[in-house]
Amino acid sequence: MKLLRRRWIQCILTVLAGVLLLDLVFPPRPALPYSTVVTASDSTIIHAFLSRDDKWRMYAETDEITPVLRDAILFKEDKYFFYHPGINPISLVRAMGRNLLTGRRTSGASTITMQVVRLLEPRERTYSNKLIELARALQLELHLSKAEILQLYLNLLPYGSNIEGIKSASILYFGKLPKLLSLAELTTLTIIPNRPSSLRLGLRNERVKQERNRWLRQFLDRGTFSAAAIADAIAEPLTAHRRAAPQQMPHLALRLLREHRQTPVIHTTIQPSVQAAAEQLVQNYVNRVRAYNIHNAAVLIVDNQTMSVLAYVGSADFHNVFDGGQVDGVRAVRSPGSTLKPLLYGLAFDAGLITPKSKLNDVPTNFGGYEPENYDRRFNGPVTAEFALANSLNVPAVKLLRDIGTPIMVSTMQKAGFATVRQQAKDLGLSMILGGCGVTLEELTTLFTGFANGGRVKALNYVQQGRKLQGTAVPVLTSEAAFLVTNTLTQITRPDLPNNFDNSYHLPRIAWKTGTSYGRRDAWSIGYNQRFTIGVWVGNFSGVGVPELSGANTATPLLFQLFNALDYNSPRGWFRPPTGGPDARLAMRQICPDSGEVPGDSCAARATDYYIMGVSANWRCVHQKIVFTDLAGRMSYCAHCLPEQGAVRRSYPNLAPELIAYYTVKRIPYVAIPTHNPACERLFGTGADQKPLITSPNDGSEYFIDPKSPTEIQLACQAANDVQAVYWYLNDRLIRKATPAEGVFIKPKPGVLKISCVDDRGRHSDIRIVVKVE
Ligand SMILES: [Zn+2]
Ligand SMILES: [Zn+2]
Repeated sequence: MKLLRRRWIQCILTVLAGVLLLDLVFPPRPALPYSTVVTASDSTIIHAFLSRDDKWRMYAETDEITPVLRDAILFKEDKYFFYHPGINPISLVRAMGRNLLTGRRTSGASTITMQVVRLLEPRERTYSNKLIELARALQLELHLSKAEILQLYLNLLPYGSNIEGIKSASILYFGKLPKLLSLAELTTLTIIPNRPSSLRLGLRNERVKQERNRWLRQFLDRGTFSAAAIADAIAEPLTAHRRAAPQQMPHLALRLLREHRQTPVIHTTIQPSVQAAAEQLVQNYVNRVRAYNIHNAAVLIVDNQTMSVLAYVGSADFHNVFDGGQVDGVRAVRSPGSTLKPLLYGLAFDAGLITPKSKLNDVPTNFGGYEPENYDRRFNGPVTAEFALANSLNVPAVKLLRDIGTPIMVSTMQKAGFATVRQQAKDLGLSMILGGCGVTLEELTTLFTGFANGGRVKALNYVQQGRKLQGTAVPVLTSEAAFLVTNTLTQITRPDLPNNFDNSYHLPRIAWKTGTSYGRRDAWSIGYNQRFTIGVWVGNFSGVGVPELSGANTATPLLFQLFNALDYNSPRGWFRPPTGGPDARLAMRQICPDSGEVPGDSCAARATDYYIMGVSANWRCVHQKIVFTDLAGRMSYCAHCLPEQGAVRRSYPNLAPELIAYYTVKRIPYVAIPTHNPACERLFGTGADQKPLITSPNDGSEYFIDPKSPTEIQLACQAANDVQAVYWYLNDRLIRKATPAEGVFIKPKPGVLKISCVDDRGRHSDIRIVVKVE
């Protein structure tokens, strides 16, 4: 007896030493690779991927293991699970005795812990392996809590084929999460793993049901569940069948799979109802515009407060290979068209360059060889900054970018997370504001959330996370500038309402900006109210341009539909100007409507406008200029030639030279300052009226050109020496602004060519030449 006890002690010590040694040499395998599961905000499964070893092995989280599930599985497999150290000595001894008596090896006495060991590391059934498994079971108990071991067990249970774990089985056979299983369904799933090949769900449901009900009756005998619950469960039909794994939102799912390799369950912020509505609207919309050869669209919907992405539509149909459905339109790099203009105007408000009613000249302008035109190829003359932004005029935008500087615009965009612009930074010029750079729908949508959030941009959240982990806000605009941008983008008297816009549309209350890229390849419309920002892109992934495509007519209708579906009659109020507080810098002031500047002595009219205190320029308006003329007002004097008598002081519009040139060419009447006194010694006129004289080419001459290598023709003029700049026009189209002495070269096309030269006082002359093919 003494000997036996010593042997027992020896045995236990050996096992313990073995466990410790094993633990050092062979640490326990934490788990097998899981199938990545992507869930929506309500924890429904959006998408599931096979594990690296091609199994459906979905990870059930602790809160998915309900008490009912736990009780059922423990009752069936291991009643003393919470009381033994991984091995159950009593049943072990009992099994050993049985083996000795019968001379057969039976596989009783396996605790859940030991089963987990075998599921993690399958071994042949030998006595020595059994010992290893015992040691491993003790080891596992050292490392993991009971709850973790049970969780691991439920996640590894075999269900036949390549299905492992209660969650995979629940999803793939019952189409629901384990939490939602009935007692009958749950019991079914606890009996399959013992005989996964003979109890095939879906194929032998009748047999499975018999076995299920046998266990349910046992539950009743032992009082595990109430009689009523068992009766219901026994009556429940078994309809399990193998289903396809959820494969929704493939663009986002694939993206998150790459970004979160080690996460078995990726909890996204996607709201299934919003996502479903967005997908439906995109699909219907693309079906409608397909007639115009427009095949794709992408949509991103963001909650402004949490920065959570609520819907993500990468393309109209992922599975449509003809239209490149697998391309993710949310992340594809495209040309932004005019969609960056609001940021530029915001920067200009913050730089003090403009206020909403500042006047900007929309006239043909040459920016060192770059001559932007408007979308409709027309110019509007002097316009307010808010008109220029709401109407997306190009020349004022390029001028503002020149004044602010491309590097400021680029660095602000970098701060706001524009990755391609960061790479392109060195190569970007003024054309970037008209679309000459690369952006994604995701970047643009993020930028616009900044306008809704007082000028502060935060990274988007795709994955649910604690408050602490939320991205830091990067200020790109002040709250004042952001409000002025919003206020401008809310105006509805604008040309980028859809053409067919009528009463059948409900116009949502949003601020929005459209964009159309060069060659009509991309239609954009990004809009926001206080709650949501929605980005819409419509076009072809092939990059094919379509004449009918435009931000206003192609993207905006979809944007409106999305807002109306999502936030019809938004309960939240509208953006309020950040005025009134002690630190408020936004205020109203009186201005002269001719310039948008503080009224000067000769400004009669008054209007009010927002301005940012201490920031907005405080210039006095000089829209009028005082000039001394003769009594008839036909001749002007300077300080040198001002006669002592017979001169009068008059006020004339103080027009910018490019505006004068534009009025002259367009034959728009304006009040000009009279010609300067021809007798004045300060000036040497070129003629009686001192208009520029075109000296090359000769009026009425004929030129012969070789169309393959057309020769250049030089344009030259003589201008009065009070002239700083001349404007050259071909057939009434501005081609260059130059100094009077500068040689300008053109490559003419065959035909009659009208050449005009306008000086900065509006004096001009025209000639005509004929260009013929050699
Ligand atoms: Zn004025
Ligand atoms: Zn003079």
